[in-house]
Amino acid sequence: MIEKYYPDLYFDSIRHIDINILKEKGIKGIILDIDNTLVPMHTKDADENVINWVAELKKTGFKVCILSNASLKRVTRFNKEMSITAIHRAYKPAGKAFLNAADKMGLEPEKVAVVGDQIFTDIYGGNKVNMLTVLVKPIDKKEILYVRLKRHLEKRILRRFSNAHKSRLEIRNEWKKKRLQIERSRLN
Ligand SMILES: [Mg+2]
Repeated sequence: MIEKYYPDLYFDSIRHIDINILKEKGIKGIILDIDNTLVPMHTKDADENVINWVAELKKTGFKVCILSNASLKRVTRFNKEMSITAIHRAYKPAGKAFLNAADKMGLEPEKVAVVGDQIFTDIYGGNKVNMLTVLVKPIDKKEILYVRLKRHLEKRILRRFSNAHKSRLEIRNEWKKKRLQIERSRLN
């Protein structure tokens, strides 16, 4: 089912994310991917834009948690100035990592939004635990071959997504709810 890869929302960059839409949807916490979502792949430190944007989210009342497949070293350095909750080596799209992040924020998965640049890790993983999934365009176009190959598939999914009928999105929403139960049962 291709629908399980569809994001709920799609924006050009984190700066374009409409915070009011998230609020209207009852979102209280936000999971953030680092690489190519907040900064380019090889940028070690969070820049001023990222730090200010995260501060803005917190000021608005959102809880924030970094969820990255990168190493402890990479995540710790990136998070040095912000010192927000962070999970490294998350093995996204593993549902466990996303549920762990929701737990750390003290929120039910339905109240959490996932912001990321990759459909097969961030979006699919968030959908599996019934979170609101927010896709952003990757910052850096120069990517390793493996990721570039995935981008081709992503483009095909996004084309289908942009033309998707409402009924297909409803089917997906039902799938998201059921899948959360499965992911939860796996934790026990
Ligand atoms: Mg990424």
